Amino acid sequence: MKITIIGTGYVGLVTGACLAELGNDVFCLDIDADKIALLNSGGIPIHEPGLEEVVARNRAAGRLQFSTDVAASVAHGALQFIAVGTPPDEDGSADLQYVLAAARNIGRHMAGFKVIVDKSTVPVGTADRVSTVVAQEIAASGSGATFSVVSNPEFLKEGAAVEDFMRPDRIVIGHDSGAQGLRARELMKKLYAPYNRNHERTFWMDVRSAEFTKYAANAMLATRISFMNELANLADKVGVDIEAVRHGIGSDPRIGHSFLYAGAGYGGSCFPKDVQALERTARQYDQDLFILRAVEAVNDRQKQVLGKKVVANFGEDLAGRHFAIWGLAFKPNTDDMREAPARVLLRELIERGASVAVYDPVAMLEARRVLARDLDPAQFAQVRFAANPMDALDEADALVIVTEWKAFRSPDFEQIKARLKNPIVFDGRNLFEPEQMAEHGIEYHGIGRSVLT
Ligand code: NAD
Repeated sequence: MKITIIGTGYVGLVTGACLAELGNDVFCLDIDADKIALLNSGGIPIHEPGLEEVVARNRAAGRLQFSTDVAASVAHGALQFIAVGTPPDEDGSADLQYVLAAARNIGRHMAGFKVIVDKSTVPVGTADRVSTVVAQEIAASGSGATFSVVSNPEFLKEGAAVEDFMRPDRIVIGHDSGAQGLRARELMKKLYAPYNRNHERTFWMDVRSAEFTKYAANAMLATRISFMNELANLADKVGVDIEAVRHGIGSDPRIGHSFLYAGAGYGGSCFPKDVQALERTARQYDQDLFILRAVEAVNDRQKQVLGKKVVANFGEDLAGRHFAIWGLAFKPNTDDMREAPARVLLRELIERGASVAVYDPVAMLEARRVLARDLDPAQFAQVRFAANPMDALDEADALVIVTEWKAFRSPDFEQIKARLKNPIVFDGRNLFEPEQMAEHGIEYHGIGRSVLT
């Protein structure tokens, strides 16, 4: 099938590459000319396991092209996927300017019948707004074109995006029940048929329910994280090991093991903004989402938990102190630093006068870019970018772990102890066992692991 993807970011690039892998003819559009030039020269703008190979293979096969040519992109695909960003507006609602700009472009240039697929995460009612904008442009151009807007939210996880897209748990598709909607459904069914060979993974529903499903999923996941973080903070006070509790409750099939990890708070481009946007939608309808307000507040506080533990140990004034930081990306297997807890920690330490040596397996370049923006030049000068994890440790008063990269899970503890000035580890992801650390003679501060002995 001929497919256009509008917006070649995390979601657009993965969607385009994976749909090309299935044999479709995919045209990826972006307004960022540098990004398109990089992709056309064989580069990949993001770190995502397996993506480079899929992109290279499908470019070579002629099934995947990248361009900034709007008219050509609209002419190409019978299906027009909108996968542009929906960042938070000042009031927390989803900013739809990019989605609506993409819709206007489609309406302006289209002819015949097109299915417009909202893949971006968008609030309930957005498909109606997209329809209105497209219809206005068609009326202005006089093309007589027809279309149907479908909602197909994306559930991939950064760090496992290709795998998730190729083997999705579910495919959610919302369409309307008129003749054009049913025509759109047939095209979507054909597109996703390869995923449904072994068992049906597609959930068909109305458009608004599909839009809502994406927010409900992210809100639920964020709630589980904040719930465990809140319990972990209490566990620290009452002398309980939250890891033991996690196993104890996760074994109940009604609860399950996933997403019960206490830590330094959630980040990334999705949970923070989607929780906020859902709250905002509720407020527009005179409803207060108490749980989600608390989820957000708990998370804001949790991002400060590592800084607070450091201060509790070393005092408010950290002038002359030096810390090693392992992990900068908001989660492993990505270089994405949007809303990353490491940014909150670094600012806190540096504002209190400390210097830091940081290491992340893939986010070092992105960290330079982001931290240069977060910090003023004098503060930025307090950050040393280490060549490897052990190199970060020299002369540090303590090691602080912020991201649970696999490479940090079985380190050489003797070397950690030898290289640090003080053998103290603050573990924001509970990678280690307190007893194991005690055996190595390392003072260990996890999240919710202060068992009374
Ligand atoms: P992103 O910022 O990585 O990419 C968006 C891209 O769209 C950018 O390259 C930008 O230049 C381009 N763009 C903006 N306006 C455009 C226009 N008019 N025409 C063409 N290109 C345009 O964003 P992302 O992380 O891929 O997220 C996209 C959407 O998918 C968001 O709504 C997000 O909430 C949702 N989503 C993201 C993830 C994720 O893990 N990143 C997962 C599921 C859903």
